[in-house]
Amino acid sequence: MHGFAALPGNAAGGRYNSAHSLDHGAGGRLEGRLPITRSSMKVAIIPVTPFRQNCSLLFCERTRRAAVVDPGGDIDEILAAAASQGATLEKIFLTHGHLDHCGATSELRARLGIRVEGPHVEDRFWIEQLPDSAARYGFPHCEAFEPDRWLEGGNSVRFGMVELEVRHCPGHTPGHVIFFHAGHKLAIVGDVLFQGSIGRSDFPRGDHATLVSSIRGQLWPLGDEVAFVPGHGPMSTFGEERETNPYVRDDA
Ligand SMILES: [Zn+2]
Ligand SMILES: [Zn+2]
Repeated sequence: MHGFAALPGNAAGGRYNSAHSLDHGAGGRLEGRLPITRSSMKVAIIPVTPFRQNCSLLFCERTRRAAVVDPGGDIDEILAAAASQGATLEKIFLTHGHLDHCGATSELRARLGIRVEGPHVEDRFWIEQLPDSAARYGFPHCEAFEPDRWLEGGNSVRFGMVELEVRHCPGHTPGHVIFFHAGHKLAIVGDVLFQGSIGRSDFPRGDHATLVSSIRGQLWPLGDEVAFVPGHGPMSTFGEERETNPYVRDDA
């Protein structure tokens, strides 16, 4: 399900070792902005499922509330990571409807009674076939579900005192969205872009040209210095990919 057959190594390099404090500190560039953007956020990357999908746990340090992006499986690992931070899980955000990204959503929602936001409604057909996909790939049974909120480009999502912008980036799937935190210059991009590669576009309703224009039109304008968590593999920055990624570099 991931975007790239043979990813170079395991991105996150293991569990829990990717917790980055993104606090700009007092007197930093966040000074003077709305309170909601001043709360510092921490991110932990938890590779889940046999596809080693980068599930991200986002923590609001001020409120100890957390959101999980793309809980594909391994619920106990996700809950343990939240517990280790003393965080209360408040929401589930989804980039797209593929099994390795949202396979544990239904169970997690049922266990915790939390809201599911995303992806874009164009990915409904993927979510509806989750039970079939799970059987085909040998995953534990999982239920299809209806998110509490479908997202569109220009929306924002919130947990604790943290706010993330939503951008619609079709091409890998038609309803793929990404999440962006402007203050921390961090994007969570699912299977749109990887270090050195881009998402597959050979699935039903995937389209290579659409994917490339999503990357150039929706991601690059966020800024070269933006770091991103891809759906699989190591983190990188948009600027690095604009220079070196053979699929989308500026002179490609
Ligand atoms: Zn994936
Ligand atoms: Zn995918």
